[in-house]
Amino acid sequence: MSTVAEPIPDAAIAKKQATEAGNYFVANYPPFSFWQKEQVFAVEKMLDTPAPHDLPLGVYMHIPFCRKRCHFCYFRVYTEKSAAEIRAYTHAAMEEFSRYAARPYLHGRKPKFVYFGGGTPSYLSVPQLQELTDRMKELMPWDEAEEVAFEAEPGTLSEKKLEALRQIGVTRLSLGVEHFNDHILETNGRAHRSGEVDRAYNFARGLGFEHINIDLIAGMMNDTTELWEMAVAKAISMQPDCVTIYQMEVPYNTGIYKQMQAEGQVTAPVADWPTKRGWVSYAFDEFVKAGYTVTSAYTVVKNPDKIKFVYRDALWDGADLLPIGVASFGHLGGIHIQNQAEITPYIETIERGESAIYRAYATSPDERFVREFILKLKLGSVKPSYYQAKFGENVMTRFAPQLHWMQDEGFAKLSEDKIELTRDGLLQVDRLLHEFFLPHHKSARYT
Ligand code: SF4
Repeated sequence: MSTVAEPIPDAAIAKKQATEAGNYFVANYPPFSFWQKEQVFAVEKMLDTPAPHDLPLGVYMHIPFCRKRCHFCYFRVYTEKSAAEIRAYTHAAMEEFSRYAARPYLHGRKPKFVYFGGGTPSYLSVPQLQELTDRMKELMPWDEAEEVAFEAEPGTLSEKKLEALRQIGVTRLSLGVEHFNDHILETNGRAHRSGEVDRAYNFARGLGFEHINIDLIAGMMNDTTELWEMAVAKAISMQPDCVTIYQMEVPYNTGIYKQMQAEGQVTAPVADWPTKRGWVSYAFDEFVKAGYTVTSAYTVVKNPDKIKFVYRDALWDGADLLPIGVASFGHLGGIHIQNQAEITPYIETIERGESAIYRAYATSPDERFVREFILKLKLGSVKPSYYQAKFGENVMTRFAPQLHWMQDEGFAKLSEDKIELTRDGLLQVDRLLHEFFLPHHKSARYT
């Protein structure tokens, strides 16, 4: 059943210029604040049903350790854990994985994609990585995996570790570079410096990874137009397969926000939103001139025919994603899942033989439709006929007020079977997506 969206009063989208505290990035839908402990039973019930034949499966493995906490980081990360504590964590994670692998819904399935996120997965030592991945493959072989993605902090990557990652089967190596200016890296609390980026990138290139991505952030503290342009030029000179560019936001649980609170500030000490959008737009233009293609609100890709985003695309299509580890997010049989958010209760829960799931949300067909529509708008262009065929929904009618407002504001162009975001729309897509939420989800703080 459709829920007609409310018309948008002009003032509903305030054109905020300054960067204030809060999360704007839309990673999933419905918002996390609606997920509940009371719905965890639904996951347990579903895990006892037979495995589906046609739904791809992915595995997300969360490694919550980092060398140092960045001032803009809002994840739960641990910086002082000993080798014994790290081993206790990976053992708990493997115990969690083995219990899942034995359940009817997952038994015998093989992952189409595997994702190591964090935190810093590359913080693990070579023996820790080998032990972990050997066990993962025993439980669910990777021989049908089309993508094995791995997030890495450049300063943690020795040649030996990169060789191990290649041998383990990593296909997509994502380097958290963020910027190339050492003063910016240092004042934003990053652990690595630009020299480590060059060293790690050159080693990795020499080893022939299929897909190397570098992450950049527009608007870190102390960034300037000149330094940003230098960073873009440096990134182009490296010729990575993909570059992902985020605009700096300052969520509530970051070091920057705590400092703002202590100083009584409302505005974060980072560039304002128009400046950040201008910087990303400049980067997109420069990459396009260098032969890259803009493939989403955050990515430029050197060769779009060759470089695929299996994890992202499968997830947005509604694939199953098995979440392993502390605070991991996943999605099984239409149910969103998040694990215990702190490492000690996570390990203790697993040791007691209980499920580590902390909260869940069983989506309705209508919520799955809205989810897939808004997430795919991040690609910059969607086809109404796709949603008609998959969900029986006419998006042009269903979202008429929002779409026409976006067209009037210059954020989108509408044609018979295409909704296309303009550059201006693409660069603030996360802010716009909130307008497509179901009415009862709109007022939620997006955490
Ligand atoms: S490296 Fe990433 S996860 Fe670790 S502290 Fe920095 S932003 Fe957070």
